[in-house]
Amino acid sequence: MFESLTGRLGDVFTKLRGRGALSEKDVDEAMREVRRALLEADVALPVVKDFIDKVKARAVGVEVLKSITPGQQVIKIVHDELVEMLGGAVDTSISLHAAAPVAIMMVGLQGSGKTTSTAKIAKRFESRDKRRVLMASLDTRRPAAQEQLKILGEQTGVATLPIIAGQQPVQIARRAIEAARLGGYDIVMLDTAGRIHIDEALMQEVAEVRDVAQPHETLLVADSLTGQDAVNVAQQFKDRIGVTGIVLTRTDGDGRGGAALSMRAVTGVPIKLLGTGEKLDALEDFKADRVAGRILG
Ligand code: GDP
Repeated sequence: MFESLTGRLGDVFTKLRGRGALSEKDVDEAMREVRRALLEADVALPVVKDFIDKVKARAVGVEVLKSITPGQQVIKIVHDELVEMLGGAVDTSISLHAAAPVAIMMVGLQGSGKTTSTAKIAKRFESRDKRRVLMASLDTRRPAAQEQLKILGEQTGVATLPIIAGQQPVQIARRAIEAARLGGYDIVMLDTAGRIHIDEALMQEVAEVRDVAQPHETLLVADSLTGQDAVNVAQQFKDRIGVTGIVLTRTDGDGRGGAALSMRAVTGVPIKLLGTGEKLDALEDFKADRVAGRILG
């Protein structure tokens, strides 16, 4: 992820480091190149503008330009502001501070990786955090969806709610929560239905499930390969449903990283997890400073 951006920024930084003294004009020039690199990485324009303004405001200070290593200082400012843009030091862990069974609702468009991510997260809760998880598919529109989650449950050793044909999403949600309570599960994960596009019927259905399940976390699953579309989808789910965190999938195939870079700044919702492959253990915590470090190479 971020390969092209890392390369571009690396070139800018090499130039900055190579100079002994820096003028305001040099910083301006460097920032123009950083701006271009971010836009090419498909970062949202207002986010880029805000970022450049902040870096410039700090970097043209007398102390920076008159320091012994001005280039190095500017690079540090870029790093710090990048961390801020990605969400700073906010806690990005999935909160389980609620009475068991803690309900986690997964939402997003069809094909975003919702069901796979549900299984990945559940598997990790079980193996790393020693929590017992029950997963339930609420996707009654796509015939194979419930079966798909059942198979993933078998592969990961995570329990799934038995399928009852003909039940509606809200009924399944109620049954899942009741089964989790009776079965002594710590967490119940609700994999809601997706659609190719956001439509009113989808939002209505998810809103009804939310009202019944009262999820402690609502995780929006978005495909990083769709760039700014992923950001727009997240904004719409946030406005209509309420979202507590984002799971960004397919980051393994995304050389640009525009969604990862814009998501938090545009929506205000933190990215919590990154999907990094098709395998069921290909899941990473999102830490702003680590990601910024990776971008800057
Ligand atoms: P859903 O319709 O949103 O439930 O999407 P699925 O979970 O069925 O995923 C659709 C496809 O994307 C599957 O083939 C997954 O294996 C794949 N997928 C999901 N997450 C990732 C990821 O992080 N990286 C890669 N490379 N593939 C993923």
